[in-house]
Amino acid sequence: MLKKVLIANRGEIALRVVRACKELGVLSVAVYSDADAHAPHVREADEAVRIGPPPSSESYLLGNLIIDAAKRVGADAIHPGYGFLSERDWFARAVREAGLIWIGPPAEAIAAVGSKTAARTLAVAHDVPVVPGTTEALRDATEATAIAKKFGYPVLLKAAAGGGGKGMRVVRAENEIAGALDAAKREAKNAFGDDAVYVEKYIEGPRHVEIQVLGDQHGTMISLGERECSVQRRHQKMIEEAPSPAVSPELRKQMGEAAVRFAKAAGYTNAGTCEFLLARDGSFYFLEMNTRIQVEHPVTEYVTGVDLVQWQIRIASGEKLTVPAHIVPNGWAIECRITSEDAANGFLPSTGRINYLHVPGGPGVRWDAGVEAGSEVGLFYDPMLAKLIVWAATREQAVERMHRALLELTVDGIETSREFHLRVMEDSEFRAGAIDIQWLERRLPSLLSVDATPDELRTAAIASALIADAERRGRSAVWTGATGGAVKRTAAEPAPQSSAWAQLARTEGLRDR
Ligand code: ADP
Repeated sequence: MLKKVLIANRGEIALRVVRACKELGVLSVAVYSDADAHAPHVREADEAVRIGPPPSSESYLLGNLIIDAAKRVGADAIHPGYGFLSERDWFARAVREAGLIWIGPPAEAIAAVGSKTAARTLAVAHDVPVVPGTTEALRDATEATAIAKKFGYPVLLKAAAGGGGKGMRVVRAENEIAGALDAAKREAKNAFGDDAVYVEKYIEGPRHVEIQVLGDQHGTMISLGERECSVQRRHQKMIEEAPSPAVSPELRKQMGEAAVRFAKAAGYTNAGTCEFLLARDGSFYFLEMNTRIQVEHPVTEYVTGVDLVQWQIRIASGEKLTVPAHIVPNGWAIECRITSEDAANGFLPSTGRINYLHVPGGPGVRWDAGVEAGSEVGLFYDPMLAKLIVWAATREQAVERMHRALLELTVDGIETSREFHLRVMEDSEFRAGAIDIQWLERRLPSLLSVDATPDELRTAAIASALIADAERRGRSAVWTGATGGAVKRTAAEPAPQSSAWAQLARTEGLRDR
């Protein structure tokens, strides 16, 4: 087993790796920028090394400085977390060349799947379905038009070097193609220094379903089932769950086998994720492979009982995988990303000091956070503060549990996405599992709107006063659904002008107990 792991990351994922190390009896070393000197991951690690000033370009992205720090403290391995340097093949190679162990796939495997067109070619060669389209860079608009005609509109122009949704354009008719090609090329050139653009058929209303794989260095590669990540805003995942409401055992098997085939073809080891689009007709298409631990890994951990981060370390130590190849997911897990964003104001980033933090607890609740009461939240890093993850026996119960846990969560001092998540958990379409990758953008206006009539507002105001009164008398008041109570609410809830309150006033009664 490795003896000492340096974690080249910050926030909740750094703390997650520290915890895995502790449980395995491995020493952990944190690195930090000046902005993170008092962060929980720094305090909880066995040692900590200052890297530099707050901007990540002067701290968490300085690979060589991080490698030097690892050597100085006598670490034998580096865990990159996600983001930052985690998917840079040059960094994985530099770690290896410095005589350290890289807790992740080989640099060659990262490079092999790094380009979208290279990954598509590899997938096609190994019988893994990809979205119909090309793998060669387009020469010009004439060629693009001919190809689009062949596949049929709408098509998607996509940058080969793409990431973060940049260099992508949907084209719905022939007269749009020349302009869209120019725009996609320009954006790709600016973002990635590479203007290669290719064509894919545009799939209408698909789900984002991804498969977790785990492979050791002895030739074993397994799939741990899927995660449903369709609730996205601007291509950013907001809520993830496992399993997916749209995946049958048979489909799980097919997608799992495709992911394992792809990972093996790429010479992959350690933890990785193959992302797919799942079309309405049940066909699935490989999109790309993420060569790191994912933000949303806890939902898989909950339904499989497998500690993915511990296994990353054990695999890097040379251990043989002893996880069964075909795990049937047990129950249902949901994750909400708690970000420092104000959903009611266009998800504007919010900064400041967290004055007070009450963390949800109780059965089936997990809180993975990089902050605590007293933390300063600035603009240097990603706005994700924490992940709230719940497990329950069924999806319906998991949604109720998440709703309950979100009600318990109190963050004072900055705005967070808590309110947004509450509205999603109350939404009838979400509760029915009727989601796709465009669902949130479509639904957001009504999720966040104030659409109550004066009557409803009056009822809600009376209810609110009743609840406040009950609380003063040391009792709790609960909204109980007239039809058996799908939604329950206490006085900790938002002001009566919110649309959810108005809906309650319309459909439900109030009981004081
Ligand atoms: P990036 O690497 O820039 O994130 P992806 O290939 O992962 O690009 O695509 C980003 C998102 O765009 C996907 O999660 C999906 O929501 C959407 N998307 C990608 N390809 C297609 C397609 N062919 N049809 C419909 N939507 C797509």
